[in-house]
Amino acid sequence: MTEFQARQQLIDHARAMNALGINHGKAGNVSLRWDRSKTPEGAGLLITPSALAYDRLQPRDIVWVSMRPDPDLVATDSETLPDTPVFDGGRRASSEWRMHRDLLRARPELSAVVHTHSRHAAALSCLAKVQREGIPPFHYMIALSGASRIACAAYARFGTQALSEAMLDALAGGAMACLLAHHGLIAAGPDLPSALALAEEVEALAAMYAITLTLGGPAILENPAMDAVEQAFAAYRSGQAL
Ligand SMILES: [Zn+2]
Repeated sequence: MTEFQARQQLIDHARAMNALGINHGKAGNVSLRWDRSKTPEGAGLLITPSALAYDRLQPRDIVWVSMRPDPDLVATDSETLPDTPVFDGGRRASSEWRMHRDLLRARPELSAVVHTHSRHAAALSCLAKVQREGIPPFHYMIALSGASRIACAAYARFGTQALSEAMLDALAGGAMACLLAHHGLIAAGPDLPSALALAEEVEALAAMYAITLTLGGPAILENPAMDAVEQAFAAYRSGQAL
């Protein structure tokens, strides 16, 4: 795949995010690991730009962001940092480039990230109970996230390093998706179709969980049941028969 094709693939998935009904307007963003060389300087990612409608995106509008840590971010209070936008080819990277960069840097097995403000995930992320406990294993498909519970990252302002760090905490232990308090969801995968499919699944689970909460709350699957599902998914991913 050429970089031009990777940029087009990113646009296709950003548009699909809205077409699937898991995002609206210019909210949300999508990224794909893209190294321009084998050297540390060449390690990076392609990400959708800030403030451009997805139906108007052209491959040249996609922004490449270096994987290298921003030295300004290391010693400074992350909440008070200016927005340090990343420009590339005249476009500014999505304001959430830090979450995408930090997730791809922390998790070499993942290569694509989808962040959306999907309706039910965002609504649940505003509940204190969900902020404390995440979405519990009320349905076996929760295990698709790589964990037995979809955690909710603590609130921090959009675009900040603090939000990125809260997200990494929520994904600790190998999870590939989490909610972001008072905000939405983020999901990752080994490629763009997987990351988008997981984002769609998390939104569907959030909708189901919201319904069960209005009906008095769900019964919860116990550990042995969820362990068995996680093992089955792991076998499925590695190509073994179920
Ligand atoms: Zn957002």
